[in-house]
Amino acid sequence: MKSHGQQRVTVVGAGLAGLAAAAYLVSNRFHVTIVEASERIGGLVTTDHLDGFYLDRGFQVALDSYPELRRMVPIDSLAPREFARGFEVVRRDLSRRAVALPRPPFRARQFADLLSNFNMGDLRCLARLAPRLVRRDAQSAFEVRGRTTEAYLRECGLSEQTLEGLARPFLRGVFLEDGLQTPASMALFVAQSFLRGRAFVPSTGMAEIPSLIAGRLGTAAIRLGAKVVSVSDSSVVLADGEEIGHDWAVLAVKSSQLAGLTGESGLDTSYRSTSTHYFATESELAAGKAVLVASSWTPVATIAVMDMVAPSYAPKGAHLVSVSTLGTETSDGTAAEFAADALRTDASNLSHLRTYRITEALPVSFGGGRLGRPYFPAFSKRLFLAGDYLQNPSIDGALRSGRLAAEAVMAAHWGLPERGASA
Ligand SMILES: Cc1cc2nc3c(=O)[nH]c(=O)nc-3n(C[C@H](O)[C@H](O)[C@H](O)COP(=O)(O)OP(=O)(O)OC[C@H]3O[C@@H](n4cnc5c(N)ncnc54)[C@H](O)[C@@H]3O)c2cc1C
Repeated sequence: MKSHGQQRVTVVGAGLAGLAAAAYLVSNRFHVTIVEASERIGGLVTTDHLDGFYLDRGFQVALDSYPELRRMVPIDSLAPREFARGFEVVRRDLSRRAVALPRPPFRARQFADLLSNFNMGDLRCLARLAPRLVRRDAQSAFEVRGRTTEAYLRECGLSEQTLEGLARPFLRGVFLEDGLQTPASMALFVAQSFLRGRAFVPSTGMAEIPSLIAGRLGTAAIRLGAKVVSVSDSSVVLADGEEIGHDWAVLAVKSSQLAGLTGESGLDTSYRSTSTHYFATESELAAGKAVLVASSWTPVATIAVMDMVAPSYAPKGAHLVSVSTLGTETSDGTAAEFAADALRTDASNLSHLRTYRITEALPVSFGGGRLGRPYFPAFSKRLFLAGDYLQNPSIDGALRSGRLAAEAVMAAHWGLPERGASA
């Protein structure tokens, strides 16, 4: 067996996938250099500070049930501030309906309570889903590959009323799409994560997640503002022409970057886009710790009054209203009007802080087979892939892909069988 103390790994991309890959490699005594194009770590998970407000770049939440997140950092160290256990649907007439989620340990009666207003089809569907949703292994949810969420829920027998009044408004806020065309495996993963745990933000913003992971990087070198323009088995080349040699590389960028960096064509590059509009107000709002969601009749997907959940997100006396919309077209005025109506205030009370328009937010397709081959992080003998698109578009999926890429590098180096395909 070779000594691996001197083995050099370049990790391209300091999003969660790259950071996780680097953390696992460093803890196994590989010499890691992380090369990141932007000026900070975290990729899609980052936070700006503006006039005393914490603005996550795109509304997002973490779940304390995410297995890979728990593996990576103690949840308590993030100072989690929890959302309500449930959500509120804003109907077309602007009335709001609160939906509470059952708490573990799950009992049939809790589910029955949840669906007490619904029909037998809903109850039968829930009875079919329940064993999947409460199974211990989070990955057990990945048994329904190939079906869209809408097809799966209809096949399951969910009533039109529940699909449109509850499932669609909630899931469109997570999937960032109206049609529920996202694979059903993701819906089950999301449902399982929300049923088993609590949604939260760290008290100082989502950037705390990559920041804590970076604390595990020890000897790794991080090079910020270093854009890679090509990658091979033996080196990466930066935009300024510098070449960095390595024994192994982990390419932890979006799938849309793969073709350009590797020269291999035909890779899927499709992403869903979203915008998050932030407003400040000192007016009273009809809001608590629940996220408000709505259906396809409005471009608004979610509304959250962030300081209700995490008081540090806004200066004393002020509220921070986060309004996320599907796509990148919605104007700040439209977002403000809808949020004001839903929160029972006047749009003139909401002063615009900033809008993030994110064109490549969530990969449309993901998971095994996406690259036309069974899931396997090896792109070539010495080049490995990581990124949410390989698992599922979530914080947990990104972290998992990073761990599997690191394990694949180690397995290749030590000549062990690949574990990534089934772990
Ligand atoms: C608005 C929004 C809301 C979301 N909501 C949730 C949520 O509520 N819960 C949840 O679990 N997940 C959510 N997600 C998904 C989650 O944030 C992502 O799945 C995850 O962060 C992706 O991590 P990644 O490392 O795969 O990719 P990225 O974060 O995209 O990281 C890729 C990194 O590679 C760098 N890079 C790219 N090209 C180069 C290059 N040529 N050279 C060097 N570096 C390069 C980039 O700068 C970036 O830092 C949301 C995402 C968005 C955008």
